Parts: sequence; structure tokens; C-alpha cells
Amino acid sequence: MIPFNKPYLSGNELENIKASVLSGKISGDGMFTKKCNRYFEEKYGFQKVLLTTSCTDALELSALLLEIKQGDEVIMPSYTFVSTANAFALRGATIRFIDSCSDSPNMDVAQIESLINEKTKAIVVMHYAGIACEMDTVMALADKYNLFVVEDAAQAIDSFYKGKPLGAIGHLGAFSFHETKNIVSGEGGMIAVNDSRFALRSEIIREKGTNRSAFFRGEVDKYGWVEAGSSFLPSDIIAAFLSAQLDNLEEIQRRRKAIWQQYWDGLLRLEQTGKLRLPNIPDYATNNAHMFYVICTNLDERGALIQHLKQHNIHSVFHYLSLHASPYFHEKHDGRPLPWTDFYTDTLLRLPLFYELTDEQVQYIVHHILQFFE
Ligand SMILES: *Cc1c(COP(=O)(O)O)cnc(C)c1O
Repeated sequence: MIPFNKPYLSGNELENIKASVLSGKISGDGMFTKKCNRYFEEKYGFQKVLLTTSCTDALELSALLLEIKQGDEVIMPSYTFVSTANAFALRGATIRFIDSCSDSPNMDVAQIESLINEKTKAIVVMHYAGIACEMDTVMALADKYNLFVVEDAAQAIDSFYKGKPLGAIGHLGAFSFHETKNIVSGEGGMIAVNDSRFALRSEIIREKGTNRSAFFRGEVDKYGWVEAGSSFLPSDIIAAFLSAQLDNLEEIQRRRKAIWQQYWDGLLRLEQTGKLRLPNIPDYATNNAHMFYVICTNLDERGALIQHLKQHNIHSVFHYLSLHASPYFHEKHDGRPLPWTDFYTDTLLRLPLFYELTDEQVQYIVHHILQFFE
């Protein structure tokens, strides 16, 4: 069976873990965490980054930083992972879901303004497959109505919007290093704090509500409980693994992009003959090869394609189920139909994409997809 995903060990993961363990300091914010922070700040120019135990935690930290409370409204796409919404629902926010675009699973930013009212506190965007949402419109609305913008950049490491790294455009950006992402640490994540108003509080909330980080920098002479927080920092063992991946980021990205391009070249004629739709990458966005997906005509066709590939030992997987129609949320939804979200729920299919997938395997997968349609 060709699996859908396979986490890649890029080289020094085990040596780094050993070095971390032998250093005698394996709790958070040790030498490997510092190394990872430096990497992100230098390579992408992030003002401030903090590793977290997951992207889910980075989103929960964001909701705490923005002081989201009961009655606040937060606007976000319905076609996204549960964590995007759950982090804000957990703080009592009312979630206002936006539909996807007709030509992309990303949220249709043209629909945001009609949902803004005096209760609206934030817009959360999610860059699906690492391909940027149209951020100029989002940031202009945030400016006009004095709202915060959080980017769920879980899939968007090393991807850009008009030259700016994703996750660095909104006030806060959340990344994931879950084993299904481009760069992994098993579980893991990061918050990019792009607004200096949040710099100090982000450290405090991440460290159980204490000003421990400021204490270790010698800025205060004792540390204590200064606000309500949690524990979002990963062990340095996790950072040790991540650091090895970062050493190979360029090579990992090179290979993933080559695989992505092979799928594109092999399947293009199905798009040209109207049998399938392939990913749409607008001029303002880059492709970080997080995912290769195809869009079928309807649910039955997708089901048949999954079965066809399975019979040939290829594991393909569908993706999100509309959050506005989920068991937890459907009764809370304001009733607006979100037809494109439902469409991608039924028709989008993801193909295997991981570093060790060989050219021959990609050709084999392409061959069986062509065979299905032709
Ligand atoms: C993977 C993912 C998450 C969750 O990441 P974790 O690190 O597993 O918490 C959140 N949002 C999106 C869009 C994702 O793809």
C-alpha cells in the first residue's frame, strides 16, 4: 500500500534528542528551542516566535491573548480543521462561519464585511494547503473596523503572500509541526507574535500565567502569577527533533515541490478536459507543496475514485467536513447556506505526498487516476 503520509526522518533527529537529554535540561525553552526560534526569526523575519505543544495550543493562546469572551463574535471559514474554531468556542465566542471561494477551498473574503457588527472581535483566516488567502482585503477590514486577525498557518510554513511569509501578516499566526505537515516534530506548533502589544503577555500566558521568562532575562527580580494562563511550551526534546528538520527544510521543500509538480503535469489534461479540478494558485500566493488535492464532480464520483485507488494499493483521503453542519455546531449556526464549503466537503480528495514518495510511485498514482477518468 502507498500510504497517504509518512513522517520523514531527515538526519539528526535522534542525535539531537540524545544531546538534549544529555544536556540535563529537557523542560521547555532550552538550547534547541532557542535554536529553532533563531531559525524562524532569521529565515522569515518573524518579530517574535514561541514554540508551543501544537497549533491547537497556539490558537488557544491566541484566543487568550485577544481576551475573547462570551458574546464576542469571531469570523472564520467553515472549511477548516476543528481547532481553528474550537480555540475560540472554548472561550465562549460566537463563531460566524464564512463560505469557501468557488475556485478555491480558501474562505471567500468578499463575504466577511457583511458579518461584521459591534460584537465582532477577530477574523481568523486559514491558508488551505499552504496557499494564501487574499490578505489585503482581510487586513483592510481589520483596520477599518478595529479587529484582530489570526492566521491559522498550520499548513503554511515556508509559504508567502506577495512576498510576505504567511503567519507574519495578521496580529498572530499559528503553525503546526504535527506529523502530517511539511516540517514535523510528532506533535508541535508555534505562535508568531507580530504585534508588539502582545509580546510580553504571550510569554506569560504560555508559562502558566507567570512572568518567568522576564525573570530569566533579569527584567524583574522575582516571578509570580500575573495573569490567567496555561502551559503551552513543549519539552526541549521536541525542539531537538524539530531543529533537525529545520536543518533540512530546503531539501524537504525541494522534494515536496518536485512531487507536487509531477502530479500537476500528469493530471493537467484531466482539468483541461473538464473531468477534474486541480489546485488554484493565485498570482499573489506561493505553493509550499503541503498538499496535492483534486476536486471531483460529486460525492459518488469521489467515493468511486477512492475505491479505485484503494484497489491499486493507493491510500487517498478526503478532508474537512463543514464545521457549520457538524454535530457540535449545526444548531448554533445562523442558518446561512455555505454551498461551496459543502461542495469541497463532498468532492475534495488528497493524494499521497511525502518526502520519500518516489517518482515511480507518483507516476503509478497518476496512471491509475488517468485510467479511472479515461
Ligand atoms: C493540522 C492543523 C491544525 C492542528 O494542528 P495541531 O498541531 O495538530 O494542533 C489546525 N489547523 C489546521 C488548518 C491544520 O491543518
